[in-house]
Amino acid sequence: SRAGVAMQAVLTIDLGAIAANWAMLRDRMAPGLVAGVVKADGYGLGAAPVGRALLAAGCRHFFVAHLAEGMALRAVLGPGPMIAVLNGFAPGADEDAALVPVLNGLPDLAAHAAAGRRRPVILHVDTGMSRLGLDARELELLAAEPGRLGPLELRYVMTHLAVADTPAHPLNAAQAARFAAARARLPAAPFSFANSSGCFLGPDFASDLSRPGCALYGVNPTPGAPNPMRQAVTLAAPILQVRDIPAGETVGYGATWRATRPSRIATVAAGYADGYLRALSGRAVGILAGRPAPLIGRVSMDLITFDVTDAPACHPGEMIQLIGPGNTPDEVAERAGTIGYEILTSLGARYRRDYL
Ligand code: PLP
Repeated sequence: SRAGVAMQAVLTIDLGAIAANWAMLRDRMAPGLVAGVVKADGYGLGAAPVGRALLAAGCRHFFVAHLAEGMALRAVLGPGPMIAVLNGFAPGADEDAALVPVLNGLPDLAAHAAAGRRRPVILHVDTGMSRLGLDARELELLAAEPGRLGPLELRYVMTHLAVADTPAHPLNAAQAARFAAARARLPAAPFSFANSSGCFLGPDFASDLSRPGCALYGVNPTPGAPNPMRQAVTLAAPILQVRDIPAGETVGYGATWRATRPSRIATVAAGYADGYLRALSGRAVGILAGRPAPLIGRVSMDLITFDVTDAPACHPGEMIQLIGPGNTPDEVAERAGTIGYEILTSLGARYRRDYL
């Protein structure tokens, strides 16, 4: 009976797969260490459960983007692991959470040095992303005057790759060369280089601490090549109603889809408010009883519609898979004209979440 059953979408997150993906990268990058990048609430999957799972797997270095993310993660993980904040923060703002600021320019460095406290920091050098990090002029100033660091302990020197998902792009080698040159000018310190894609670029991109994010969550680090990562996310939503419409009838906002034959339509409880992007309108597939069913018409806020004419036995309450095997985050992203990262970080908060 449907009575009492919450007609709600279910997001299933396989923490075992995420931990296995981390362990695979740890083995691959050894003897260098491997961090876990869990910014944006663990790429939308839950920084707390993901962080705990990675900690249990042996991960001792975490990266978040914001101070608040770092504070929240510290409360979850306890005092042991390093938690670094990529966007940086003002001295003292982390109170006693002992977060590691990423210093993205000389002003950041000067502010933390002036605070007079001996604390570990990560120095970010720009080698081609042109977004954050010391530029060439700042690097020269620091190289000429390393005393600017004051009491700060250079825990890592890091840089970030711009095109690691395109292995043949010449900027990869250029960034490796610029990073080596920058490190040679700075006080000796361990260094941190590769993101997920960089972990697959070869020995020139190995470092003391790699920083994978997306690959932990199953996104293919090398688009176009077979995905070596385990899938971690399944999203399924319930069919609310099944209805039969005659040929010529239209479905949904804008009347963008018109039945060319008598058709059976399943209306499903998920929409763009749940991160099922409107750009997927008419372009996605749901998996129903193991077979693909085309998404038809526009994605609306809370509802989507599928043509189930060829799956006539489907019924209200049955779950249709929106993300998972056969419609992975990467595949859904491709249909929406975006990347798997955006599919994951767009996942809303309206689901029941099941952690495996
Ligand atoms: N390092 C930095 C500085 C980042 O900004 C990010 C995320 O964008 C990562 C590492 C992780 O990247 P990815 O998810 O591509 O592995």
